Amino acid sequence: MIKLKQLLSRNREQTLFECRHCGTNMETNTKSCPECDSDDITRYEL
Ligand SMILES: [Zn+2]
Repeated sequence: MIKLKQLLSRNREQTLFECRHCGTNMETNTKSCPECDSDDITRYEL
């Protein structure tokens, strides 16, 4: 069920990631910010 939901959301929704420390936006899921190396990443589902 979880895999199916991920496939569906991948087709229909766009996910954006933003560093809460410096505000850098990323289109891909990362464990840490490429700019400031913070691991405080917020996920937005558009
Ligand atoms: Zn950052």
